[in-house]
Amino acid sequence: MPCHCDLPTDEEPLPEPIQGLGSTSACPTGDPAQAQSAPLVSPEGLARLGGPFIDAHAHLFPDRLMAAIWRAFRADGYALQHEGTSATVADALLRTGAERLFLLVYAHKAGMAASLNDWLYTVTRDEPRFVPFGTVHPDDADRAAIVSRCLIDQGFAGLKLHCSVQRMPCDDPRLDPVYEIVQDAGRAVIIHAGTAPYRDAHTGVVHARRLVARFPDLKVVFAHLGMWEVEAFGALAAANANVYLDCSSVIAYPRFTAQMDLDWLGGFFEQLADKILWGSDYPYLESDYEAPLLGLWEMGLSAAAVAKIRHDNAQRLLAVIRPEVVRSV
Ligand SMILES: [Zn+2]
Repeated sequence: MPCHCDLPTDEEPLPEPIQGLGSTSACPTGDPAQAQSAPLVSPEGLARLGGPFIDAHAHLFPDRLMAAIWRAFRADGYALQHEGTSATVADALLRTGAERLFLLVYAHKAGMAASLNDWLYTVTRDEPRFVPFGTVHPDDADRAAIVSRCLIDQGFAGLKLHCSVQRMPCDDPRLDPVYEIVQDAGRAVIIHAGTAPYRDAHTGVVHARRLVARFPDLKVVFAHLGMWEVEAFGALAAANANVYLDCSSVIAYPRFTAQMDLDWLGGFFEQLADKILWGSDYPYLESDYEAPLLGLWEMGLSAAAVAKIRHDNAQRLLAVIRPEVVRSV
């Protein structure tokens, strides 16, 4: 969620296939044995949800990059609860009980997206619950080739872009060839385009409106409800069939939720129940995994709205983009 703009530049993420998924990876805190087997959503929580759920916004990075991201979060004052390695995070995600999990990466500088995408491919190709979203950097010289490889050759569901980290507005013309490939392939792009947590020149709904106007057939999910311009991003989603929002890092995340009118937010969720996807932003959480998921109920939403947000909207998007990770590249 935070900027990560100052991540070290000397740490190239190299493909590092995860070993021992779901088996013996160490737990960063607490009793490893207990943490290994404990579900991240309790049976009572799952019963309360009333049906399956899809996590449409979770992260996984190679170990060296993930370690640098933890340092950046700590420097920004976050008290994250789930620090770990690629293996422990992936293992935990598979213990959430989620039907599918969108796994997102992003590149904070040029020259790393291709290896990052290839790494994500190795991590996801044997686990059908993982839905990979690769990335590209606006300064990559071979942007079209990078995107074609992960979307077409490797069958990724789409891309993730982070306007603050990558220091570009979402309507940056350097991304035009990228969006054309995503659009033509019928895939989706998830974009952190909102002004939270930092207001900078690269974020804001002004850019998002221009992007949607120029690529009306592009399937876009704006992350974190476009926070802090939630109402404006909501209007954009309501007016455009291919625009969605995910609500990761919004519910039960005190540093953000405390700045919102929760009654208003509940009405917003109910009104846009067809356009909002639930996402955890795991492992970048200051709460447990369950709190933001069950928090849907604490907003006073109807059962129908909860069902759409926790599962059906993401399922509908997946049915349209038809991602299928290619098993033999
Ligand atoms: Zn995120």
